Amino acid sequence: MALILFTGAAITPADLHIENGFAALPPAFYTRLMPTPLPAPYFVAASERAARLIGLDAASLAQDDFVAALTGNSLLPGSEPLAAVYSGHQFGVWAGQLGDGRAILLGDIDGPEGRMELQLKGAGKTPYSRMGDGRAVLRSSIREFLCSEAMAALGIPTTRALSVTGSNQRVMRENIETAAVVTRMAPSFVRFGSFEHWHYRDKPDELKRLADYVIDTFYAELRGAENPYAALLAEVTRRTARMIAGWQAVGFMHGVMNTDNMSILGLTLDYGPFGFMEAFDVNHICNHTDQGGRYSYANQVAIGHWNCYALGNALLPLIGTVEAAQQALDVYMPVFEAKLDELLHAKLGLRTFEADDRALIDGLFTVMQGSHVDFTLLFRRLGELQVDAPTDQLELRDEPIRDLFIDRPAFDEWAVRYRARLRKEASVDAERRAAMNRVNPIYVLRNYLAQQAIEQAQNGDYTGVRELLAVLEHPFDEQPGKERYAALPPDWAAHLEVSCSS
Ligand code: AMP
Ligand code: MG
Repeated sequence: MALILFTGAAITPADLHIENGFAALPPAFYTRLMPTPLPAPYFVAASERAARLIGLDAASLAQDDFVAALTGNSLLPGSEPLAAVYSGHQFGVWAGQLGDGRAILLGDIDGPEGRMELQLKGAGKTPYSRMGDGRAVLRSSIREFLCSEAMAALGIPTTRALSVTGSNQRVMRENIETAAVVTRMAPSFVRFGSFEHWHYRDKPDELKRLADYVIDTFYAELRGAENPYAALLAEVTRRTARMIAGWQAVGFMHGVMNTDNMSILGLTLDYGPFGFMEAFDVNHICNHTDQGGRYSYANQVAIGHWNCYALGNALLPLIGTVEAAQQALDVYMPVFEAKLDELLHAKLGLRTFEADDRALIDGLFTVMQGSHVDFTLLFRRLGELQVDAPTDQLELRDEPIRDLFIDRPAFDEWAVRYRARLRKEASVDAERRAAMNRVNPIYVLRNYLAQQAIEQAQNGDYTGVRELLAVLEHPFDEQPGKERYAALPPDWAAHLEVSCSS
């Protein structure tokens, strides 16, 4: 129910109306428990756009009452806090039971664009914590917060992040760090691994219960399908394929695509050792812990499909036949390729589709690979290309783009083909540039930018986090005075390593 009351006065937690639809599932699906308070919590940052999705404003979230509630020190009215159980494949290996080891679901709010669940990540131990301490550190919470909102602004399906609050309580990782809580929002946090859990435990009733809950709540249109469970698998597979096409098109690498980190709604979920491609290498591995490169930029496409297979395997008892499951899974590559093709055409400013466009696009990625060109800057600068510069001036005109390449003749050769292709559809420079600038971001969450904001925050200054959020909320718009956020990484960034430690 939407019962958010605007009284004109400051919004307080009492104005929120929370229910918990997930809690209507039988107790086997979760453990009810309270968040564990943190000492002297403080406000770090909040997202205005995320706040609006639940009828709030970011300024209210800085109030003491909200800071306490978002840290888990007090309860938002109506909350029915719980930790959900799930299992999963980690790095391709069955890991058995996992579950919300440090995340606590408070419930859901009916917002202007639909239902949003609120989840506190880092709010203390649960029965699923295993060896973990139930906490998240400020560093990883800021990364998740910024990237969730950056991805949303890029138009890529993702869970959202409402806020980060912190506490000086010490938390042991490779170093001693401090605790934080990121409040995440999504219509649901059910994962592929939530289904695998019941399948591997040989609990068909629970499996069916969960599938029915997901269909009835989030895929109601599939109820009428001949085989709703096969239809669910096909639709999740489609959404996953489209989401990953979105990742490839902006150079996003998730880093730890275990089946417990795959959303049943096709949302980018669980931001840990993610990265945005800088110097292009198709085999780039962003997660320092991923030595085999299972989740590299190139591999994450096939892994997305593999993960859908794991989901299909879990749903098989409901689907009935291997053939029906296989048919549902077969949509993956065609949907992925069609979506990526559409996105790459837009990135190159192409309005029409030609048979040999694939070769042109592959050609660009080959020269990018050869020179390890910065992914974001290249696509953005490509919009500056002029189709009809006099031949003797081409190199001069193309300078800002050519400068990104070590092998400039390779780019020149490719540019000849690109210009010919643009002429073929009578492309107009100014129009194409405007269209390209709407899809090729100038600002992405480069690791070094996150790192700078984090180090500032670790010294008690949160202005860097907030400024970076503001920039990333408008990734396609040139923002005067914010040029440094579009810059190539400095030399020290080459030594930055992100791992699963969070
Ligand atoms: P991840 O690889 O971060 O998606 O986490 C895998 C599993 O480990 C999930 O079940 C998490 O809830 C759990 N986990 C990760 N970090 C912690 C922690 N610090 N305390 C408790 N559980 C954790
Ligand atoms: Mg996870």
